[in-house]
Amino acid sequence: MPDQPTTKLARLRVLQDAFTAQLPDRLMAIRRIWLAAQACPEDDAPRKELYRLIHSLAGAAGTFGYQRLGERARQLEDSLLQRAPASYSDTDNVETLNSTWAQLETLAAQGPDNTNDEAPAARQPSASPTHDKTLVYLLEDDSLQAQEIVAQLEHFGYAVESFPAADTIIQAQERRPADALLMDVELPEASLEGPRIAPILQALGAHTVPLIFISARNDWQARLAAVRAGGRAYFTKPLDFAALVEQLDHLVGRKIQEPFRVLIVDDTVLLAEHYAAVLQGAGMETEMVINPQRLLDVISDFGPDIILMDLHMPQCSGVEAAQVIRQHPAYRSLPIVYLSTESALHHQLNALSMGGDDFLQKPISDTHLVSAVSIRAERFRGLNTLLTCDSLTGLLNHINLKLTLEREMVMAQRRGELLTFCMLDIDHFKSINDRYGHPMGDRVIKSLARLLKQRLRKSDIAGRYGGEEFALILPDTPPEAALVVLDGLRESFAQIPYSYHTAEFGATFSAGIASIPPHTDMESLINAADGALYTAKHSGRNRVVVKNTGAETTVETKPLLP
Ligand code: GH3
Ligand code: MG
Ligand code: MG
Repeated sequence: MPDQPTTKLARLRVLQDAFTAQLPDRLMAIRRIWLAAQACPEDDAPRKELYRLIHSLAGAAGTFGYQRLGERARQLEDSLLQRAPASYSDTDNVETLNSTWAQLETLAAQGPDNTNDEAPAARQPSASPTHDKTLVYLLEDDSLQAQEIVAQLEHFGYAVESFPAADTIIQAQERRPADALLMDVELPEASLEGPRIAPILQALGAHTVPLIFISARNDWQARLAAVRAGGRAYFTKPLDFAALVEQLDHLVGRKIQEPFRVLIVDDTVLLAEHYAAVLQGAGMETEMVINPQRLLDVISDFGPDIILMDLHMPQCSGVEAAQVIRQHPAYRSLPIVYLSTESALHHQLNALSMGGDDFLQKPISDTHLVSAVSIRAERFRGLNTLLTCDSLTGLLNHINLKLTLEREMVMAQRRGELLTFCMLDIDHFKSINDRYGHPMGDRVIKSLARLLKQRLRKSDIAGRYGGEEFALILPDTPPEAALVVLDGLRESFAQIPYSYHTAEFGATFSAGIASIPPHTDMESLINAADGALYTAKHSGRNRVVVKNTGAETTVETKPLLP
């Protein structure tokens, strides 16, 4: 495999060098077609090709650091468009054009004017990189309680280090500041020791970190001390872990969010690669389409949040491609942003009226590209989330889960891969509601959703199927592997304690698993998973059952509790 330049800057440099290397050929091609256009002014074809080549040069040159060349090409394009075709061979025109031509060659020979500006590093608005662990320091002198807190927070994807005394947590904070602090109020050293040392820990970090106090004390004095020490939340023991995790998630601004996916459609490979490098440098995922014929397949496989569409391509125009995309109801609201050298307002408006959402003008600076793309992708995600996700859990809602299942099944069957579908239902949920109230029930639902989001692979999909029912789509996963995953989730979920006043309780779920193959259609797949769930419920709950009718396998996991 050839060595890939690793840093973004190095990749951009390689692309710029490639553009520089191509430049003489590009100019030569323009020169040739120009002569052809002059020779036969009555023939449309060479003139159109000439416009296209100059147009694409104007767009690409600026991107690769040849700003002046790009501007000159754009002026040339404007002046060509204003000329009557017959005037191509007029002597004075030929002279003007020849001198412009000489300028283009000179500018090209001079090399790039300057290096392109740097894209801001890893800028995903409100999106921290998926699944990287947040470091929490815990100050808790009771070692059993400390172990329990560490285990619970680790279930939810936090990395926790626990310290029994003030001096040890201070040393750790000096070495490497935590992302959040969780502190006991009372310590053997002194009463209200936690609030006393909290400002010291804060001072050791680069900036203020979220601070949460936990305590058996529930009196005004202790709570006031916590507030004065900068505590953002206060939890009494026994801890309600679901509430604690919710608060931690909120305070550290942690959203389990995937990077934005950007589809770049441009017939100029180098330009497409340049945009891809810039956007990847800002933490986004990209896919390129050079020939629009592949567009619909790539959209369906890649699931972009936004499409960057070149306006002028030889096979079809960007506007036409956008219209084809819009013929599909599922893609009606997918943002399509045209990227083009087109500066004439009426052309832009015309393009926008035909299926595009916005217009960015080439050449576009890296910074501008990254912010333009992320703002639009974020807005689309936000709107899309409102429409497709359940408001309590943020998981896909019923209808969209089914639409996704349909799409994933088609893809799996096309690739000849397995797909496993699971249905989960919380056990005796009605009695949780009855005993501890509906809001507590909601909290249990949310904590299961949180666990699913945390534990599943990026390609897995979780949805809220109904009240306390969930469904999972696990692409490219055999049922035996799904069983292991589900059983791990089952064990973790069963270990989460919830507190209600002084009572503590737990919850469990049952699950049913089915897969394609042997099933071939969605209805039989769902029915089989539902049937397996029914078996799990009726054989005692808190267990996972696999049922694939074709293969007649029924596997049950051992329940934790008899
Ligand atoms: P099983 O173990 O057989 O699943 O018993 P169950 O009690 O969990 O099942 P059942 O279907 O009888 O009860 C589900 C209850 O879930 C009934 C409904 O009021 C409640 N529920 C549905 N949606 C929500 C919700 O969003 N929040 C809360 N708190 N309760 C909900
Ligand atoms: Mg239930
Ligand atoms: Mg139910």
